[in-house]
Amino acid sequence: MIAAPLSPGCTLGVLGGGQLGRMIALAAARLGVHVHVFAPEGDCPAAEVARRHTRASWDDPHALDAFAATVDVVTCEFENVPAAALERLAARVPVRPGARAFAVAQDRIAEKSFLRDLGIPTAPWRPIRAAADLGPAREALGHGILKTARLGYDGKGQLRLGAGTADAEAFAALGGVPCVLEGVVPFVRELSVLVARGPGGASVVFPLSENAHQDGVLVRARHPARAHAGAQAAAGGIARALAEGLGLVGLLCVELFLGADGRVYVNELAPRPHNSFHWTIDAGAPCQFEALVRAVLGWPLPAVVPAGDVTLENLLGDEVNGWSEALAAPGVRLHLYGKGAPRPGRKMGHLSQLLPAGTLPRGGLGDDLLSVPGEPGVHLRRGVAGWFAAGPDDAPLPAEAVPFRVRPLLAWLDAGDPRAAGWEPSHRA
Ligand code: AMP
Repeated sequence: MIAAPLSPGCTLGVLGGGQLGRMIALAAARLGVHVHVFAPEGDCPAAEVARRHTRASWDDPHALDAFAATVDVVTCEFENVPAAALERLAARVPVRPGARAFAVAQDRIAEKSFLRDLGIPTAPWRPIRAAADLGPAREALGHGILKTARLGYDGKGQLRLGAGTADAEAFAALGGVPCVLEGVVPFVRELSVLVARGPGGASVVFPLSENAHQDGVLVRARHPARAHAGAQAAAGGIARALAEGLGLVGLLCVELFLGADGRVYVNELAPRPHNSFHWTIDAGAPCQFEALVRAVLGWPLPAVVPAGDVTLENLLGDEVNGWSEALAAPGVRLHLYGKGAPRPGRKMGHLSQLLPAGTLPRGGLGDDLLSVPGEPGVHLRRGVAGWFAAGPDDAPLPAEAVPFRVRPLLAWLDAGDPRAAGWEPSHRA
C-alpha cells in the first residue's frame, strides 16, 4: 500500500550536512516543510538553514532513535550513510530512497553487477579483490582505471594504470581494499541524467546535463547538452529502468559517457541530488531539490522544462574569492555554501547563468561567429587557434577585458570542439 502524501508543516529528516543538504533544506522551506539534519559535524552548511540539527555519530543508536521520533520521512544528501544507521532508521520511519538504492550505490561491484543484470552498457570491468586479480584483468581490458569499490568520490580512490604501474603497487596505493578495474571508455562527452520517482512509481526525467571534469571533479555543466536526440531518450529510459529496479523513491542521478559510437554508457549512480544539476535552481522550472522534496513526501512531481540555456560553474577552493566579481556580472547567479576555509578543490559554491534558448552552441561545428545576448560590444569568433572573444572592431579582447559572464561560453567552445570533430554533424539533433 502506498502511504498517503505528507502535508506542509511536516518534518523532513536529512542525513548529511553538506551543501546538498543545505539546498534540500532551502527548497523544503519554500514549500512549508521543516528540516531536521542529522550530521556528525557541527557548524555544517545544511544545519545553518535547517530548523534542527542533531550532531551525533552514525553509530549512536539513541541519537538515531530520537531523530527518527521527530521526523515524518528521511532522505539523504550523500550515499555513504552506514547501512546499520539506515536500517535502524528504516525500522522507525520511511527512508527514501531505501536500503537497496544505498547498497547498490555504495559499492561499485554491486553497482556494476546490477547494471549488467539489467543489460545496461557500462565500461568493461572486472572485480579486483587481490593484487593477483589485476594481471588477467589488465590483459582483458587494457591498463584501465582502478577504482576502490567503496567510498570513492570526486575522483578520489582512483588510479589510472599505465604500462609502468606494477599490480602490487597499484593495489597497495588504493589501500589494498576491494576494487574494480574499468576499461577506458573513448567518450566524446560526459553527460548526466536525473530522474525523480514518487512512492507510487510515477517519475519525471530531467533533460540531460553536459558535464566537464578536471582531475575527476566536476568543474562545469550546461544545458542543453550537445548530444543527439536519441541520447536523451536512451538516458531517460536507463534512468527510469534503474529507479524502478531499485524501487527508489527520491532522486537518482546517472552519470554517463556518450561514446564515440553514439551510445550512452553508465559510469556511476548517485541516489541523491547531484552537482551537475545545480543549474536547475536558476533554470526557471522546479529544481532538483524541489523534485526530491516532492517525491519523498508523495506530492505530484513537476514537469521540468528549463526556461532557456543554462551554464553552471563550480567555485572550487580559492575561486570563491571572485565572488564580488560574479555579483557584478549581470545575469550571473552566485550560490555560496557557507563553508569555512577554501581548501584546494573544495566545493565552495557555484555560479549559474540562465540565457535565452539557443545561446549556447548546439554543435560546436559549423558556427564560427556567435553573438552574446546582453553583451552588444562582444562577439565570439573561431580562429585557427580556437575560440576567442572579440570587440566591436573584431580584434581579440585581452583576457581581463572579456566580460565575466562570457567566460563560461568560451570555455565550452574550447572544450567542445576537438572531441566533437568528425562525429557531431551526422548526429546533430
Ligand atoms: P568517477 O569518480 O568514477 O565518476 O570518475 C571521475 C572521472 O574520471 C569521470 O568523470 C571521467 O572523466 C573519468 N573516468 C572515470 N571512469 C572512466 C572510464 N571507465 N573511462 C573513461 N573515463 C573515465
